Amino acid sequence: MNQDDQFKNVISHAKEYGFVFQSSEIYDGLSAVYDYGQLGAELKNNIKQYWWKSMVQMHENIVGIDSAIFMHPTTWKASGHVDAFSDPLIDNKDSKKRYRADVLVEDHLAKIEVKISKEITKAAKRFGESFDAEMFAQTNPRVVGYKEKMAAIEARMKRCLEEEDLADFKQLIIDEEIVDPVGGSRNWTDVRQFNLMFSTEMGSVAEGANTIYLRPETAQGIFVNYLNVQKTGRMKLPFGIAQIGKAFRNEIVARQFIFRMREFEQMEMQFFVKPGTEMEWYQHWKDERMKWHHSLGISKDNYRFHDHIKLAHYANAAADIEYNYPFGFKELEGIHSRTDFDLKQHEKHSGKKLQYFDPETHEHYVPYVVETSVGLDRMFLAMLCHSYNNEKLEDGSERIVLRLPVNLAPYKVAVMPLTKKEGLPEKAREIVDNLKSDFMCQYDEKDAIGRRYRRQDAIGTPLAVTVDHQTLEDGTVTIRDRDTMKQERVHMNVLGGRLFAALRK
Ligand code: ATP
Repeated sequence: MNQDDQFKNVISHAKEYGFVFQSSEIYDGLSAVYDYGQLGAELKNNIKQYWWKSMVQMHENIVGIDSAIFMHPTTWKASGHVDAFSDPLIDNKDSKKRYRADVLVEDHLAKIEVKISKEITKAAKRFGESFDAEMFAQTNPRVVGYKEKMAAIEARMKRCLEEEDLADFKQLIIDEEIVDPVGGSRNWTDVRQFNLMFSTEMGSVAEGANTIYLRPETAQGIFVNYLNVQKTGRMKLPFGIAQIGKAFRNEIVARQFIFRMREFEQMEMQFFVKPGTEMEWYQHWKDERMKWHHSLGISKDNYRFHDHIKLAHYANAAADIEYNYPFGFKELEGIHSRTDFDLKQHEKHSGKKLQYFDPETHEHYVPYVVETSVGLDRMFLAMLCHSYNNEKLEDGSERIVLRLPVNLAPYKVAVMPLTKKEGLPEKAREIVDNLKSDFMCQYDEKDAIGRRYRRQDAIGTPLAVTVDHQTLEDGTVTIRDRDTMKQERVHMNVLGGRLFAALRK
């Protein structure tokens, strides 16, 4: 199955089983806005909990907050979002499609990268075992040429973005002969800047309403509360403030399902450090966050770092953790060294001091900040894409199984009576009642047992407990494992412990 088909299957599976629905679907939906269904909400909550526990519960010096979506409008002036939170957009005059100019160039760069890998694969075949890929990449004239070309394009785009030279940005697209991915045309408009913030009004128009914004990132809610938390929590540097919440961006091109949405959720942690130590902490959090992703047990090859070509106005270092989605490696999380930019700006615009008194050196200073920001919806999508498997079984049949990491699975245990008669449902319900305070359980009695197993496989339930006639005789049940499909019989008296152990494996 090719990657496009795989992705289409993931999307339809997400809908069919109640993970993700298009928003207001009965009205034909709203572009790039999605709702999470009964299983999606569970999976999303489990991702949130996994993140919150590892960031807040496991770190003595990190606390969590929940700040409002609406903020004083000056916040966004101070943060630079009113003036600078925009993307370069370009339209194709023939197809009438709109694109992000930087994304067109990045996709073009990715194509050159593919050419490089092809050269390397070809050479590896030719030279056999003695092949040294690194040496080849450094010396082969064709590969070197491609690399130089990529560097030149990157440098030119960086300059265009930094100096807002939109005319040369368009010229870059023309010079590189970049075509509309849909229609293949090169008939481009000029490049324009487009602010991504949604605005609305607070108060009645008669009172003189204020324009306010829907937050485009959760970070500012943390910065404006920095001193409140530091003082009331008696926090000492270095310390972090974490938050999970909604953010809104009027994305120019919203594609790829829940990868790029106009309303989405972020899991962010701002780590406040002593000036001068930020690079150490930046490296620390880059490593820690990669470890966190790896801890979910998904192949490490699916993750990589990508250093930013153009730094945001607030950053002195920035990298993304990219995930290998079916449509290629794309940003899943951003790690940014934000300097003291945000706190200093808020000091300037509010007239309030946001300084830290260092009890060791007796100095007052504005801390530096290292941010880790992961998109909850992008995590969700990565988990779905990774876990969706269409398996051929030994007997020739097929099954769709969601191999979700166990701690993220919506239901942990399905409990099923073999038949709907002879007291089996009553026994199974008794088991559910005993288990449900410890495990998210689903009771299922409809259809033949094989179909019920398939249904649980398709939603990623790691374990199924089956009650049969033997249960009534000797008090034993079977536990079936989603991944191996193996079954074992255990006594009901030890069922809870066995399930805990199996889920912890
Ligand atoms: P991109 O380059 O893909 O637009 P970004 O660099 O603007 O993303 P950040 O501002 O660093 O993103 O936001 C932090 C995280 O929030 C991202 O790593 C991503 O996971 C998530 N995120 C950002 N924009 C969206 C969106 N439109 N839909 C879903 N998640 C998003």
